[in-house]
Amino acid sequence: VIKEQHHNNYNVFESSISENFKAMLTMESELRQALKEGHFELHYQPQKNLNTGKIIGLEALLRWNHPVKAYIPPDDFISLAEKTGLIIDIGDWVLKEACKQNKLWQDNGYYPVIVSVNLSAKQFHQKGLVEKIKNILHDTGLDPSYLELEITESMAMTNEEYMLETIQQLRALGVLVSIDDFGTGYSSLKYLSLFPITKLKIDKMFMNENQKQNQAIVKSIIHMSHSLDMKVIAEGVETVDQLNFLEGEKCDEMQGFYFSKPLPPDKLTKLFKTVG
Ligand code: C2E
Ligand code: MG
Ligand code: MG
Ligand code: MG
Repeated sequence: VIKEQHHNNYNVFESSISENFKAMLTMESELRQALKEGHFELHYQPQKNLNTGKIIGLEALLRWNHPVKAYIPPDDFISLAEKTGLIIDIGDWVLKEACKQNKLWQDNGYYPVIVSVNLSAKQFHQKGLVEKIKNILHDTGLDPSYLELEITESMAMTNEEYMLETIQQLRALGVLVSIDDFGTGYSSLKYLSLFPITKLKIDKMFMNENQKQNQAIVKSIIHMSHSLDMKVIAEGVETVDQLNFLEGEKCDEMQGFYFSKPLPPDKLTKLFKTVG
């Protein structure tokens, strides 16, 4: 009896692995196809300055407009793209598209804002990253001070020296560098003070105002950012209570559904105009 059970479990296990594997292979080839056929889109989520009330930045967020499954969110495919290395080509497209779009808005007379682009670990560690960014800025004509690159705390852990050097080179180009999802990784305060980071983005998990601990963490991140001469933005702001709290604590900026969801460029331009 025991033998049979083992046998059955083994079969179930094996078939679910091969199902997963097949699904991954399918998605990998679909991702390649999406890139070739132009099925990726960028939506942009506005970031609001809490002192002036103006939009100061737009975070570019990748959407896969799948011909059958409609919009697929990045959390469903970025990690596979990262594993297969496809993230490099997808990331190149994102960088070019975001810079091109931001320059287009500026050329069309919208007041200038910063576009921020998420970089995955593999993108950040690729050879020639700084040169690539420089070329994209040159080709699109976007002023470097209107591009921000978002990296995460965990990227510092693998190779601090590379991290420091790369951030310095990006800053020398005039590009801004922020730490995304701040507070969720292992960050060393020593590195934070050494790296020329321009902004911390407080992770949305800390926005739950019902938890005293979260409010204490948000307060200390805001105060620490300011004492290290960094700007600070709160992500995932969904309610007026959260906004009031952030304003009371002198947080510089906010981003979240309370103000606006990420929007496709054509829907965004209306908001952009009226809030500007
Ligand atoms: P992220 O960089 O932390 O982006 C913020 C995420 O929070 C976005 O999810 C956004 O839609 C969502 N969000 C914004 N405001 C709120 C809010 O008020 N409440 C809640 N619950 N969520 C909010 P999205 O667009 O699904 O992106 C998920 C993640 O995928 C991003 O997290 C980022 O890490 C990654 N990602 C997105 N685009 C790219 C890209 O072009 N390249 C790379 N490498 N990663 C990307
Ligand atoms: Mg981000
Ligand atoms: Mg992120
Ligand atoms: Mg984030």
